[in-house]
Order: sequence, then structure tokens, then C-alpha cells
Amino acid sequence: MAAPAPSLPPDDADPTFAELLAGRPDLAAHAQDGLTMEDVPLARIAAEIGTPTWVYSAATLRRRYRAMQAALSEAALDCEIHFAVKANPNLAVLRTLAREGAGADIVSEGELRTALAAGIAPHHVVFSGVGKTMRELRFAIGQGVGQINAESVEEIAMISAAATELGRTVDVAIRVNPDVDPLTHAKITTGKSENKFGVAMADAPALYARMAATPGIRPAGIATHIGSQITAGMGAYAAAYRALADLVRALRAQGLPVDRVDCGGGLGIPYRNEPAPSPAALAGAIRTTLGNLGVRLMMEPGRWIAGPAGVLLASVVLSKRNGARRFVILDAAMNDLVRPAMYEAWHGIVPVSPTDYVAPVSSCDVVGPVCETGDTFARNRGLPTLEPGSLVAFLDAGAYGAAMSSTYNARPLAAEVLVDGARFGVVRERQTPEALLAGQRLPDWYAA
Ligand SMILES: *Cc1c(COP(=O)(O)O)cnc(C)c1O
Repeated sequence: MAAPAPSLPPDDADPTFAELLAGRPDLAAHAQDGLTMEDVPLARIAAEIGTPTWVYSAATLRRRYRAMQAALSEAALDCEIHFAVKANPNLAVLRTLAREGAGADIVSEGELRTALAAGIAPHHVVFSGVGKTMRELRFAIGQGVGQINAESVEEIAMISAAATELGRTVDVAIRVNPDVDPLTHAKITTGKSENKFGVAMADAPALYARMAATPGIRPAGIATHIGSQITAGMGAYAAAYRALADLVRALRAQGLPVDRVDCGGGLGIPYRNEPAPSPAALAGAIRTTLGNLGVRLMMEPGRWIAGPAGVLLASVVLSKRNGARRFVILDAAMNDLVRPAMYEAWHGIVPVSPTDYVAPVSSCDVVGPVCETGDTFARNRGLPTLEPGSLVAFLDAGAYGAAMSSTYNARPLAAEVLVDGARFGVVRERQTPEALLAGQRLPDWYAA
């Protein structure tokens, strides 16, 4: 076999540990305690709960929710925030946001059940998604969800059937596909005409008119969501919202009522050193395009609120060399945090111990134990020599982290912990090896 390519020097463009922490106010490096989240040393959590473990900061969740709300009210916008549950469906995370007044944007019966269990009122829930089943629609309408965002003429027929069956009338918005390029990763681009989402702008007026004549449905407005991890400025947002505003005016000119516009989510965060678009910029784009229509506005942020609120805490299993390359092998893997394998995503990786934090760094590849080369978290990353048992924290793992994890390689799902000031508690138990086997059985004809 060919020798592995030698490690390159660490990427100079990478931010230092201190630079990474500077932008994350609830994380700090203490001379004695090492890396802390709020008032809790992460090493203490690892000692009590083990690793890999997701750790969420309640203070960060609250701060970011409030920052988004403040940006909207400073722009004088009457805009409800529905947290996109798919980014982080942990019950304690949802309860933290529910207490702040957040609603929920959900995409499945499971997410609806979790949101309701977290104390989010059904009328404060928007049901999104391109393939809702009849069972899910019946359940959601029966629970009294506030709005369903429909994505096709076929789905409108299904919603009507479910609602009339239940003797209900449900508020429905049409999700339009504005055909804009949000300049993000192709796998999380959703508002281009080649994507599966929404209905084409040109088809929207006829569909809306048809909806107004469909039993069980009250046409409530229009919605869009153009993509995720949008960091390339407000251009795509503004273009989409201008198209939405034109559509609202065209529908009203036909005598159709439009009283809500759902602006979607997608605001990006700086994982490495990307420019960070602010909620104020997004609020400004909404205000200039949709601000004077006299509609109730909504938005559905997920990543922007929850991403920076979480870390994935992992331990070093061992370090090895293959030729010139140094590999740091962790007890966390792509089944836990799939974003690097799936989206070529960059996550800050910061040593937890105070001595590791200040030790000189050299280049290494950070990998998990899963039997795939794709199980690589980082290449040519500057990290100190890390002994077995040393802890590292993956930053910005609070969105699309635990939510996307799997049990690939028969690895149990990691524990989840909420930190709140000086307190912390397990908010999802680590899956046991026994639980992994539960539900599996051999066919009865194998018994003999
Ligand atoms: C995923 C999703 C969101 C949230 O996206 P973020 O990038 O996490 O803000 C909002 N709305 C819809 C319809 C989605 O599918």
C-alpha cells in the first residue's frame, strides 16, 4: 500500500483556540479548570457522564433567542420566531426556548410530539416538509397546529382530506420556491428551481386561488425557506423576499386574502472564520421587502440559535503515526457528528485540559474509530500532543449534531447534557448497548 501523504503544516488560516473562544461568550479557558461552559468545567461533565457527550448551554440558547428577537423589534417588525426543531430536538433545549416564548417549526409527527412535550402550544407550531403523510397530517390537524406549509397541489388535496375527515379547518400557507441561489453547500440549498422544495412562483397564484375554494383549508399566506448556513450576505434573502412581496400583491389584486408571510430560516454562523451575517441584517432585509405589507411575519431559525450553544465532548483513544502523518483517534465518530463527512464542514476542536490548551501545536488528522475514511473530522489541524484520555471539545455542535447522529458501527447514541449557570444535568441518557439490540429479533422459523 502507498504510504499516506505526509501531514502538511497546520492551516495558518485556522483561528487559534483563543480566537475561537473569543466569539463564544459561554465558553472560557481557565488556568485551573480548563475549558468551561458557563460555570461548569467540561472535564467534570466528562468525569461524571463519560464521553462522547453533547453539552448545551442554556445561557447561549437564551442569549441568541433574545438577540434575534431584539433585532426584529428594533426593525419594528411584528415577527414570530418558530425554532426549527430539526436542528436540535432535545426536550430540554426546546423547553429552554419555549420559556423564552419560541414557537416551533416541525417536519414530522415525532418532532410535533417533542415540541408539545416541551410545552410549546400547538397553535404556535408550523408544520413544514415536502412529504407529510396522511397519518402525520391527521395527527397535526387533530392537535390543532397553527399552520401547515403546503408544498404541492397533491399535498393540498391530502390536507383537505385530513381536515374534512376531522371536521376541522386548518390554516395553510403555500411554500414557494423563489429560484434563488443562497451560495451555500449544495446539500443544504433548498430554494433553487432544481430542488424538490415548494411550488414554482409562476404556479403559486393558481394554486392559492384553488386552495381558497378547497374545503377544510383557510388560505393563510405564503412561506419560503431558501437554504441553510447562509453566510454570503443578504442578496439571496432579499431577492426571495422581494419575489414574495410581489406575490402577496398579486394575490391580493385577485381578491385573495394573504395575512401571513413565513420567511424561513437559514441564517449562517461562523464555524471557522466565515463572515457572520447578523440577525439585524436579516431583519433589515425583511423590513425593506415585506415590512409594509401589513402581514403577520414569521421566521424559522434553527442553526443560528442552537449551533453555538452546543459542544461535542470527546476523549482521545490513542494517537498514532502512519509514515509522516499524525492521527488523533477519538471516541466520537461520524455516527455522532456527521457534518464533516456529509458537508465537508469545519468545526473548531479545542483541548479541554489547561495544559493541553497552552501546549505547542503541530499538524494532525482528527478521526473517529468508524471503518470509513470519511470518518475524518479534520485534516492538518493544529493540536498539541494528546495522550489517551485527553479531552477535546468540538465547537458549534448544538445544531445538526445529535439530531443527525446514528448508531452506525453499532455505536450507542451519545448522552446529552444541559448546563445552566453552575448546574448541569443529563437531558438524554447515553444509549445502552442493550438498547441497541432491543427490538431486533430472529424470524420465528429460525427458532427450530
Ligand atoms: C431546516 C429548516 C429550517 C431551519 O434552517 P436553519 O438553517 O437551521 O436555520 C427552517 N425552515 C425549514 C422549512 C427548514 O427545512
